[in-house]
Amino acid sequence: MATITLEQEINPWEAQAARFDFAARKLNLDEGLWRVLRYPSREIIVHFPVAMDDGRIEMFTGFRVQHSFARGPAKGGIRYAPDVSLDEVRALASWMTWKCAVVNIPFGGGKGGVICDPKKMSIGELERMTRRYTAEIVEFLGPEKDVPAPDVGTNEQVMAWIMDTFSMHMRQTVTSVVTGKPITIGGSRGRKEATGRGVSVVCDEALKHLNMQRDGCRVIIQGFGNVGSNAANLMMQKGYKIIGIAEYDGGLYHPNGIDIPSLIEYRQRNGSILGFRDAEPADPAELLCTDCDILIPAATENVITSRNADRIQARIVCEGANGPTTAVADEILAEKKVFIIPDILANAGGVTASYFEWVQDRQGHFWKEAVVNEQLDSILAESFDDVVRYSEAHGVNNRIAAYMLAIDRVAVTIKQRGIYA
Ligand code: GLU
Repeated sequence: MATITLEQEINPWEAQAARFDFAARKLNLDEGLWRVLRYPSREIIVHFPVAMDDGRIEMFTGFRVQHSFARGPAKGGIRYAPDVSLDEVRALASWMTWKCAVVNIPFGGGKGGVICDPKKMSIGELERMTRRYTAEIVEFLGPEKDVPAPDVGTNEQVMAWIMDTFSMHMRQTVTSVVTGKPITIGGSRGRKEATGRGVSVVCDEALKHLNMQRDGCRVIIQGFGNVGSNAANLMMQKGYKIIGIAEYDGGLYHPNGIDIPSLIEYRQRNGSILGFRDAEPADPAELLCTDCDILIPAATENVITSRNADRIQARIVCEGANGPTTAVADEILAEKKVFIIPDILANAGGVTASYFEWVQDRQGHFWKEAVVNEQLDSILAESFDDVVRYSEAHGVNNRIAAYMLAIDRVAVTIKQRGIYA
C-alpha cells in the first residue's frame, strides 16, 4: 500500500473507501455503478438551538447521511459524541448499506450524529436536543424512508423521544420510524442484547470453521458498553473464558476468567469497571496485544492500527464495533494469518433485530424472545457461511469477501430497478 499518514489511515471514510474500491475492482463492478455506490445519496447537515438548563441557548450541529435506498429504507444508528464528523457519519452510513446486504435484510444504509458530549448533559438537555434534531430532519425520516436506531452515546430513551417527536409532527403514533425502542412502546424483545448475541454466534461459527474448542476459549473484549457487555455475558454462559476487559478508563485481566454478571453489577453500582476486586487491573492498550484466542474490539473506530497490529496475539479478531481495524492494519493482520470476522458481519446482529422490530411494529404483532433469538442466530450463522464460502471461492480475505458479497447484492438490485438518470 502507498505510504499514507496516520491521519489518513484513521479517517473512517478513507478506510471504507479503500475496502470498497478494492472489492469493487475485484468484482469488476461496472464503472457507473461504482460511482453510484461510492458516495452517499444524501447528506444532511443541521445547526440548531437548544435551551440549556442554565438558560443559555447553545447551538448544536447534527448530521444524517443516507448512503443508499436501493434495497429499502435507509437504516442505521444515531451517534452522540464530541468528535462526530461528517466523514465519520458518511463511512458509518456506507457500512450500514453493506451490513444490511451481508445479512440480506431489505434496508439501505444511513447514519446520524450530533456533536455533543452526552455524559456532560442533563437528561432535560438531552431530550430537548434530541427533539430539535429530530424536528430538523423530520421530512427525511419515516418507516419507508429512513429508520434510525441507537449507536454510541444514544439509547432506548433517545429512541423513544425520536419516536414521540416524529409522531407529534405526523399527528399520529408511528412506532416503526425508529428501532431500539423500549419494549413498552413497540421495541422488540431481544433487541438490546442482539448485537452482543450476534458477536457470540459468529465466534461460535468461526471456532467450528477453524476446528477450535469453545470450552475455555480465551477472549479479550475492548469496550464494555451495550455490545461488549452483552457479548461477554452470553459468551461466558456458552463456556468461553473472558480473560480481559478493556475500557476507555482502564482494564481488567484474570487468566482464569472474569465473572461477567458480577462485573456488570459492580459497574452499575460504581459507574466504572475500575476497582473490581476479582481481577487484576490492566492497561487497556496492552490488553489488545495480550495473548488470547479471540479479541473483540467492541467500542469505536481505529483501535487496531499500523501502530499495534503487529503485536496482536489473537487467533481471531471479531469486530463488535464499526471500523475498529484500519485498512493498513488489515494487511498486517493478514500476514499474521489472523482470522478476521469483519464488522459488517460481526456486529450485524443489532440491525437484524432492528429489522425484526420494524416488522413487528408494522404487523402490530410481537414475537416471543425465543423467536427473535432463533431467527437472529440462523441469519447470522448463514451469513457467516456465505462470507467464508465467498472468501474461499474468490481467494480473498473475509473482509473483502463481505464487501464483495454486499456490493454485488446491492448492484444486482440497482440493475434490476434500472437507473433513473
Ligand atoms: N448502530 C447499530 C449498527 O451500527 C445498529 C443500527 C440499526 O439497528 O439500525 O449496526
